[in-house]
Amino acid sequence: MKKKLIVANWKAYLASQKEVKEYVSVFSRNFGKSGAKNAADVVFCPPFLYLAAFRSAHIGGVAVGAQDVFWEERGPYTGEATTSMLKDAGASYVIIGHSERRRYLGENDEMVSKKLRGALEAKINVILCIGEWTKASDDVGEKKTLDFIKNQLHCALAGVSRTLLKRMVVVYEPVWAISGNSGIADTPENASRMIMFIRRIIAKLYDGHTARSLAVLYGGSVSSQNAAGFIRQDTIDGVLVGSASANPNEFLKIIAEATRKT
Ligand code: PEP
Repeated sequence: MKKKLIVANWKAYLASQKEVKEYVSVFSRNFGKSGAKNAADVVFCPPFLYLAAFRSAHIGGVAVGAQDVFWEERGPYTGEATTSMLKDAGASYVIIGHSERRRYLGENDEMVSKKLRGALEAKINVILCIGEWTKASDDVGEKKTLDFIKNQLHCALAGVSRTLLKRMVVVYEPVWAISGNSGIADTPENASRMIMFIRRIIAKLYDGHTARSLAVLYGGSVSSQNAAGFIRQDTIDGVLVGSASANPNEFLKIIAEATRKT
């Protein structure tokens, strides 16, 4: 079985360096004791301004990622952070295609695709978010959902070679299930079914081996109460955690679920 991957998407939940310092202090003290270090891969994706604080905290066994990246390497792009800046700041992962960027910042499939290629070519691991906006309530809705997911994947992966794909993780994140929306997580069974569908698309676009090796996570209202249900599914390689990752003790409990033997 693949090692589970637990990603914290801090979004904009922590409002100051002081809060980050307090979080990191609680987390590193208890993560070290928990024995979880080698049992799961943990990635923190804080806002750009906190990447340096993570780097200087040196939490063993934890990787750091950004929540966005620009597709050009350098130039006249006010407000943007490039792949070389991310690497320089210690980020080895980046989240791309998150629905909140699509919703509030007008990010579209073409931009997602350019960011994805740019980051993969720069050897940054990409956490690609895909997922439908509304929950299907009948067969017609279900068919639309599958077509939507397929189209999102096709657009994002245009021009991406099999070799580049080795650095990509996909998150099935139904937008309706994100805590800021319904706050009601998908069921592990449905998430698992959707993840199998995603693998089938990857197998058609690339091949079966690539589809099986790809890590596919679930995201949307994961908490310490429901994490085990997702993590225990063989088809689900881990979880992307938003609001629950903003509390170090809650996030530690989620990691503990990923590493619990039974
Ligand atoms: C997310 O939006 O990436 C996410 C996982 O959010 P939450 O856990 O808060 O639903």
